[in-house]
Amino acid sequence: MSVSINDNPQSTNGHTADASHSLANSYPSNSIDWLTRLMGFNTVSRYSNLALIEDVQAYCQALGLQPTLTHNIEHTKANLFVTVPAGAAQEIVSGGVVLSGHTDVVPVDGQDWDSDPFAATIRGDKLYGRGACDMKGFIACALSIVPEAVRLSNAGKLKRPLHLALSFDEEVGCLGAPLILADLAERGITPDYCIVGEPTSMSMVVAHKGISVYRCRVHGKSAHSSLTAQGVNAISYASQLVGYVDSLAERISRRDDVDALFDVPYSTLSVGTIKGGTATNIVPNLCEFTFDYRNLPHMTQDDILVPIEEKIAELRATMQARAPETDIELLQEESVPAMTDADSAALQTLVAGLIDDDARHKVGYATEGGQFTNAGIPTIICGPGSIEQAHKANEFVPLDDMTRCDAFLARLLTHCQADA
Ligand SMILES: [Zn+2]
Repeated sequence: MSVSINDNPQSTNGHTADASHSLANSYPSNSIDWLTRLMGFNTVSRYSNLALIEDVQAYCQALGLQPTLTHNIEHTKANLFVTVPAGAAQEIVSGGVVLSGHTDVVPVDGQDWDSDPFAATIRGDKLYGRGACDMKGFIACALSIVPEAVRLSNAGKLKRPLHLALSFDEEVGCLGAPLILADLAERGITPDYCIVGEPTSMSMVVAHKGISVYRCRVHGKSAHSSLTAQGVNAISYASQLVGYVDSLAERISRRDDVDALFDVPYSTLSVGTIKGGTATNIVPNLCEFTFDYRNLPHMTQDDILVPIEEKIAELRATMQARAPETDIELLQEESVPAMTDADSAALQTLVAGLIDDDARHKVGYATEGGQFTNAGIPTIICGPGSIEQAHKANEFVPLDDMTRCDAFLARLLTHCQADA
């Protein structure tokens, strides 16, 4: 999709209200049209998201804003962060609220869709397409309020700034958002709050678990299966560790500090894959398995790593007493921090008022929210569409959720005009 903004007549009197009015010809003026436009960019995580980001960058610049892009090392992907400043002289860029969304989407390979996943299709009261709920729907709502935010900013009516944070590579391990946060820290921009627009059917999620993925490699010693005493069986030692991980999971599930607001009220550990051995008549020299740990926000990786490392040390000593070249490695493959609600009471109260729903939820899936709370920015999740539809064929967002999200953000703008 290519869009020209060159045919926008320049504002004759310099008022941005006129400039944004003329923009209406080039850019969508409502969230549904924005969602349609965003969906046309194929931003599956394995592809570049630059076309989408540059489109939004041009939109922001045409509105007189100065977005900041942070790129991946290969410069094939970018995050966009932009601030609509507050204050009589538009001098305030710290404080305020960040609206956060990831621009990448999951693949459609092997899925059976009833319509083109990269073309928004409205059937009945739903809009279908990849990213409808996860999470271009929210980004569309956020982009559609920017002209009004700019109008208020230019009129000196914003008491606190509004920020947009659009990231890359969320779906492949939340790789983009840390670059945004590092850039903000470097520039001394300290937002008060963040709202991540992942699909929650417009209810409020105040916390989620963290996810850590580990790979364990057990290096034994080969021997013919008739000469077991000459070998060190990697599968046997890996099995002992797997058994230990399961017993640790069992112990964790019986801790007193559970949190009943989560579906599964305790932290979980689960072995997911295992591979080892080459033939039945060979004592195997390698076995590896992976497991994941989904921790409650108040629990840390050390809660499992310390005991597992102790068990590994014990097994390693036994193995190396028989063959010094044997070993056990534990590698962390992925880590997304939990999102805590420890500091978000004021934000929760604010959002509960804006969405007319006082309920607080906690979820088992991870988002960039944990990275924001780790950076000291109180964060909640609230966005259109349901996580039930995310990542599936015929992903959709109910049109009514888009309307509710529009209303939520309009109220948020009103909040940004109120005295502290
Ligand atoms: Zn998502």
